[in-house]
Amino acid sequence: MVERMITPILTLLLGCAEEAPVYGVSFGGERLPVVDMHLHQGEWNLIPESTRRFLASRFPAPLGLIAESTAEGSLNAEGVLEQLDEAGVIQGALFAVYAPRTVGVATNEYVAEQVLQDPERLFGLGSLRLDDWNNDAEAQLAGLAATLEKPGFIGIKLAHAHQHVRLDDPRFDALWSLAAATGKPVYLHTGSSPFPNTAQDAAYTDPAYFEPIIAAYPDAQFILGHLGYDFINKEVGALDTCVELAARYENVWLEPSALGSAGSDPTGANLLTAYSAMKGAGVIDRVVYGSDGPQSPGFVAEYLERSVAAMEGAGYTAEEARAVLSLNFAAVFGVEPAPL
Ligand SMILES: [Zn+2]
Repeated sequence: MVERMITPILTLLLGCAEEAPVYGVSFGGERLPVVDMHLHQGEWNLIPESTRRFLASRFPAPLGLIAESTAEGSLNAEGVLEQLDEAGVIQGALFAVYAPRTVGVATNEYVAEQVLQDPERLFGLGSLRLDDWNNDAEAQLAGLAATLEKPGFIGIKLAHAHQHVRLDDPRFDALWSLAAATGKPVYLHTGSSPFPNTAQDAAYTDPAYFEPIIAAYPDAQFILGHLGYDFINKEVGALDTCVELAARYENVWLEPSALGSAGSDPTGANLLTAYSAMKGAGVIDRVVYGSDGPQSPGFVAEYLERSVAAMEGAGYTAEEARAVLSLNFAAVFGVEPAPL
């Protein structure tokens, strides 16, 4: 009798388990929660034509044929959450972007709306325009400050190379002071970029140019995105500079997104080099995982797999991987550690 009852209950439970997403990744015999700090969404019509063509070219055939609708689907919160579920990622942060000449615009207001679709799982990084600073600095700063007070906004996103401002531009003191005063970390794109119209000179891409600001604002936290990767030549680029800055400054954090993708690092050798260098320098407690997805369907899951493989290859312990995949996110952004 008991057996006869258990079978349908088991079937029911297993049936449910199959449908519900399974969160976390296995690492060293443990199941670890995963937070992806680097996700994009936005309105396709705010992306410049040259970048739309570039994005469309990156979707595998036959998706390339319907790139426009596919990109749109993966660019809203629902699409992002679907990709996170597929990857087993429990939480993620969406980036506002103001780079109208390169990657396009995803407004603070749009990100705020998307975060509200699932405030338990989605966070936001606010941004601002930097390209007319001599005229609109006050308005831009006020807009960003108001955004940072909205629910779920945990940091500030910048990309000097995409926004056409130098990393050592001395005009942004008020921005760094705002970051320090609000305790909201600043995420910076570092390294070259494959997007059309990017400013590729060293002053825009090499994090060494940013050191004076890191040194001058010890109370502001800075996250060096992409580890200074050279996306044009698919080489490690300014990896050593990023790792050295993290070793020398407590307020420097490292984010290894995008560089290890199948397109940018086909063999996975560069991502392995990056994770090895961070371990070697003793800065694992300031590495924050991100993918730079969703990009194309399955990318978020694949990037996580490649990153786990790189950490395994570099000899990370389960506790070190746990720090990278979720705990360091909680530490830098001052939020509760993610559940499984
Ligand atoms: Zn990005």
